[in-house]
Parts: sequence; structure tokens; C-alpha cells
Amino acid sequence: MSYPKISKDPHSMPVKPNLESYDQVRRSFSWQEAVSEVELSGLGDGKVNIAHQALDRHIGTPTEDRVALRFLSKEPGAAPEDITYHALWERANRFANALTSLGLKKGDRVYGLSGRTPDLYMALLGTLKAGCVFSPLFSAFGPEPIRARMEIGEATAIVTTSRLYRKKLAGWIQELPSLRYVLLFDELEDEPYRTKSLAPLLERCGTTFDTEPMQPEDMALLHFTSGTTGRPKGAVHVHEAVVAHMKTAAFALDLHPDDVYWCTADPGWVTGTSYGMIAPLCHGVTMIVDEAEFDAERWYGTLQDQGVTVWYTAPTAIRMLMKYGKELADRYDLSSLRFLASVGEPLNPEAVVWGLETLGLPFHDNWWQTETGGIMIANYASMDIKPGSMGRPMPGIEAAIAHRTDDGMTLIEAPNETGELVLKSGWPSMFRGYLHEEERYRKAFVGDWYFTGDLAFKDEDGYFWFVGRADDVIKSSGHLIGPFEVESVLLEHPAVAEAGVIGIPDDIGGEVVKAFVALKPNYEPGDALLKEIMGLARKRLGPAVAPKSLEFRESLPKTRSGKIMRRLLKARELGLPEGDTSTLEDSGR
Ligand code: ATP
Ligand code: MG
Repeated sequence: MSYPKISKDPHSMPVKPNLESYDQVRRSFSWQEAVSEVELSGLGDGKVNIAHQALDRHIGTPTEDRVALRFLSKEPGAAPEDITYHALWERANRFANALTSLGLKKGDRVYGLSGRTPDLYMALLGTLKAGCVFSPLFSAFGPEPIRARMEIGEATAIVTTSRLYRKKLAGWIQELPSLRYVLLFDELEDEPYRTKSLAPLLERCGTTFDTEPMQPEDMALLHFTSGTTGRPKGAVHVHEAVVAHMKTAAFALDLHPDDVYWCTADPGWVTGTSYGMIAPLCHGVTMIVDEAEFDAERWYGTLQDQGVTVWYTAPTAIRMLMKYGKELADRYDLSSLRFLASVGEPLNPEAVVWGLETLGLPFHDNWWQTETGGIMIANYASMDIKPGSMGRPMPGIEAAIAHRTDDGMTLIEAPNETGELVLKSGWPSMFRGYLHEEERYRKAFVGDWYFTGDLAFKDEDGYFWFVGRADDVIKSSGHLIGPFEVESVLLEHPAVAEAGVIGIPDDIGGEVVKAFVALKPNYEPGDALLKEIMGLARKRLGPAVAPKSLEFRESLPKTRSGKIMRRLLKARELGLPEGDTSTLEDSGR
């Protein structure tokens, strides 16, 4: 089966897409202009602050009365809680005042360890307002990964809950030399030294605050990568990044001010902040903040009951919904949806088409990384979708395929040739370094070109296709095999829910392909099914690329951001050390 292009007729869309024509906007767009636009609407004198763009700017405009956050608590039966832009602004101001009253200064590092709650939004925005740096942590991290990240970032303070404090911080946090405060959203009996409940403190603080005017290049966010390929890196992002958050959300997510927008990413990783907090607030939309974890019925219920118009989610979630089938989706009225997007992992063509058939809309895949701070390559609202492709570069982004050479690099001009995906430096949300890892940062560049570590090719129409991470690519009998291509074919089999593919050493071929497969409910592993899936793969991919062996698993190892950890499948297969598993969520045994 091959996938036809999904054509978009802009005139049939409920609202006009932000991109009239991809090429037209690409030609006329410049980051320089976008940056000066923001600086002019900013704090004067070329100063900016992410929180000013996200909140302050709306105060005194009709947007201030709009609902910024609609919070859906995980407590059963709890009613949704609405927080307007004005109310969120006041809360963020109180938080900024609280930090200042404790003596925190510009540049101090404030870590956030909490689930997805309005308090976390207040903390992020208040921290930025005070000129401090915010670093989000996954609330599901254990003590070790938390400590490692706080040490790298020399944390001044951490905001969390008493439950997470007791479970993950008590016992060691006081030893962290840089740490001055543990701030609690709720209360703790017998608060240890320098542990403070925020409620009484915020109560005493005023509801206005003069947002700190920052240099565009001042550090604002410290984001740790997902750790899919190894030890997580701390990527440094600056205040000017907000320009990219705003623009890319308009282009790639088609955000309009009257949208009800839901980003399902955890706030502990970059999508959860760039597109789950900052960008939507900049656009004045109403955001759904759901505290609960994935649950197919709850999710469909939220899409329906909240009238979600724009939905940004991830392939793992989409594959889980696919596992429950169309019957479940058909029980809900999802007619308010008008734009679906996905990020985090390659989106299998099967999933794009499933969206169209089941939800009435295709998923728009887009590609980016913690390092890029914002979406770089996307299938736009106004653009034809090629299922399986990441799309085309954002306006202002120059992407190319290249090889490293002994003395530099060569750009590959020919279409359909695989190489490393590279980006020309110079957009606002580009990371400015890996904290304390100068050498690792330097190695990611050849001249102006940033090497992403992902392999891809570009087709005749300028669409980019993900092949695999450079580390995951399999070299078999002279072929370069991308795990994504093989996994996508395995997913075409109706029994397959998840697939992960690795290369294992082979005397003759160098490496051969081995597949791991998790099945949908109602399917039992067995020889007949194994033969059937392997047969499909051979027929579709040819014997050189198809897996030589296949094993069924209950589930596959995944990071907390939902990425399949192929390196772990491989290490276990070969009996090698597992390496850094601090971000492992589903151990997949
Ligand atoms: P680490 O760098 O620590 O190994 P990571 O690369 O998984 O972790 P992130 O920055 O969260 O950390 O993820 C970015 C990576 O996710 C990309 O480099 C790419 O490999 C993958 N990715 C994200 N979106 C897509 C997409 N749409 N298609 C294919 N791959 C994607
Ligand atoms: Mg990476």
C-alpha cells in the first residue's frame, strides 16, 4: 500500500489558515523583522521578557477576560476550573514578588517539579517575570535524575508539592550547595529549614510586579533533552526565543485567538513549555490543562466536552488511540476539532490516515528538538500533507541534508539521498549551549550548520523524510536501513500496536534487522501471527530490509516523553550495559 498525498483546499477550511501560501510567506519572512516587532511591543530599549509577551501584553485588552487555562483536575468528579488571563497574570505577579522578597535575583535558577497544574504556570511565568531562569523537571523522575539535573543547573530554588518533596527530595535536597529554598504549593508539617509553603507568602505579596526587562540573549529556560540516545543534556534557551514560539505556533499549529487548544505534552519536557505554556498564551487562546495521564475515554471526552479546536499530541498517544479502534472514537462528537498536529517521534503514515478516517482530519506531523526550542519542519495548515513526511522547513528556517567529512561537511543537493539533517543557525529559539558541556556543544556544529543527529532525506518537492537517529540506523549488507521505515510497515498489520527495530551484529551482513512488536488487545502472540507479520514486511520491504527475526513484547521501552528507546532494546539484546535510564518510563520487558 502506498499513501497518496492528502490535498488541502484552504477554502474548505473553517478558518483561514495563517499561511496563505507556503512559498509566499517563506519568501517574505525574516526573523530579524519578527524579532524587532516583538522588541518594539516589549519593554522598551530592545528589552524582552517571555512573560511579558505571554501575559503582560494582554492586560488592558479584551483578552484579559478570556479564559487562559481551563484546568481539569484528576480528582474524580471535580468541575473544570477556569483562570482568566488577568487572574493568571496576578498570580504570576504574586509569585514574582515572592521570589524577590526571598532575595532571588536575575539569573538565579528555579526548578519546577510538579504535575500539570495552574500552579506550575504561575511558577514558570512568575520566575521569568523576576528575571530568573526556569527549569522544568518531570514529576515522575526519581530522586537521582532530579538531583543530577539540579546539580548541573546549580539550582537556587525548587517549587514542588509536599507529596513530591517527601517522596523525592527529603533527605538529600538540603545538601545541594547552591540551593536556598524549597517552595511548596501546599503545606508540610514541620517544615525543614528553608522549606516554605507558598500560600501564606503569596497572600502577603502584591498582585502587580514590574516585569524584569531582559536582554534578548539572557538565559530564560534550561531544558534537559529526553535522554533517548544517552545522558541528557541541559540546553540553554534565551528570552528572545519567545519570538520563535509565537511565530511557529501560528505557522505550524495554526493558532488563532479564539481557539480552544490542547497540548498533551508533559510540562517536564520542551513541548510542554514551548507549546503547552508559552506559545498559546502569546496567542491569547484558551488552553486545556489536564492533570491526568493518558486514558482513551477521558481524552475523547475532553476533546468533545471542551470543544477543543486545535490538538497537539504525540505518536505514542495516537498509536494508543488506534489500539482502541474507531468504535470508541465514533461514540464521541469530535466536530469542534479543526486542526491536529503531532510531534516527538516519527508519525507513521498509517496514523496520519487513521486521523482522517476516524477523526475526520489528518494529523500534521512536525519535527523539532529540545535544542531547536521550537518547531523547525512541519506539514502546514495550508500545505498538502504527505503522510510519513515531517513536512517542509518553517519560514526563516534553512534545513538541508549533509555528510560530515574529515575537514568539514558536504551538502547533499540531490533529492532522496539520506544524510544528516542540518539546520543553518540563526533563529531565536536556537539553544545557546549545553550547560557546562562546551565541547559537546561545539561538536554539534560545522561552521554555521547545526548537526541534529537525525538522518533524513529531502524529496523533489522539498519535503523532508525522517530515516532514524544517526545512532539507530542499521547497516546491513551495504544497505542503510532506517528503523522508521521498517516500523511503519510493521504497524500496517492490524495486530501490531507498537514496533521497535534494531540492528544486531551478523557475520555476513554486518548487521541484520531485528524487530520487537507489541500487539493490540485481542491478539495473541504465536507462530502463525509471527509468520504473517514477517511475510508482510518481506513483501513490502524486500528481503534485504525486512526483519530477519521478530519477538513479541508486552510493551516497548519508552522515555517519559514517549520515545521508543531503541538503544535499550539493543543493549538488552546484546547483553551490554543499559547506560543512562533516568528518563525511562515504560521499561518494556
Ligand atoms: P537525547 O538528545 O537526550 O537523546 P531526544 O533527542 O529524544 O533525547 P528530544 O529533544 O526531546 O530529546 O527529542 C528530539 C528528537 O525526537 C529528534 O531529534 C528526533 O529524533 C525525534 N523527533 C521529534 N519529532 C519528530 C518527528 N516529527 N519525526 C521524527 N522524529 C522526531
Ligand atoms: Mg536529541
